[in-house]
Amino acid sequence: MRLFEAIVDANHRAVGGDASAGLHPADFAEALPVIALTCIDPRLNALFPNTLALPAEQFIWLRNAGNIITGPLSSTLRSLALACAVKGGKEIAVIGHTDCQVAKTTTMQLLDEFRTLGVERHLLPDNINEFFGMFSSERQNVIKATGIVRSSPLIGPKIPVHGLLIDIETGKLDWLVNGYETWQTLPKLGDAIKGAAPMTEQLGSFTAFNLGEMKFPEAKIGETVTKDEGWLSQKIGQVDAKPHPMSAPASPAAQAPRLPSAPVIPPKIPLPPPIRPKIMPSRGRR
Ligand SMILES: [Zn+2]
Repeated sequence: MRLFEAIVDANHRAVGGDASAGLHPADFAEALPVIALTCIDPRLNALFPNTLALPAEQFIWLRNAGNIITGPLSSTLRSLALACAVKGGKEIAVIGHTDCQVAKTTTMQLLDEFRTLGVERHLLPDNINEFFGMFSSERQNVIKATGIVRSSPLIGPKIPVHGLLIDIETGKLDWLVNGYETWQTLPKLGDAIKGAAPMTEQLGSFTAFNLGEMKFPEAKIGETVTKDEGWLSQKIGQVDAKPHPMSAPASPAAQAPRLPSAPVIPPKIPLPPPIRPKIMPSRGRR
């Protein structure tokens, strides 16, 4: 059994009530550390890396809102690539979660929230769903993200790329993409990035470069950056030089002097115990 297969197996046994369910990290030393991309949802704080039964030092954790990958050269993908190249990550897992607020937020709600925050519609890109990588299905989002990571020229074929979904209530993990089964068959880049964010669309001739040689068409990358910067400066130019709303007193309450007080220690709130397969002490290499 390979690392993530053992992780899912131990997780399912723990969810099923098996108190002895666990993992011997020493058995999987060649697959560690792992890199996980998850959502920013704070409810996940208590679940990782416990639910994977991995020691914290073998768990490289990247997070963004919605565990979204917007393109094969996106900022998140560059971090994943560096996590492999600089921190020695051996396997990548995109782990979505149930009840994700990003999936539940409609375009109108998003625009309303931005307006409340002082970000007017005209300052945002035309297609904000595409720009932010909004999605309505957590599962489809993970499958798409896994496909983009898998086909990114920044991630070598030696790195398995998995897709999983975690139940935020129970901590149960479900396979969506078993990276061991697909890592030999690189999907066509064009298929994987279809429908991805605007940046990927600007990589029109991206598929033309030689994936095997891992060389980039430098002019194309430069062009993309220039276009992005052009859009940014255009939008920045539209922002009025208004005083920041927080700098002016908003209400009588805001004007009231702060009372000096002793630091308040919040009461400790008990958390439901997350599903925790055991990390078992080394029993030596098999
Ligand atoms: Zn989420």
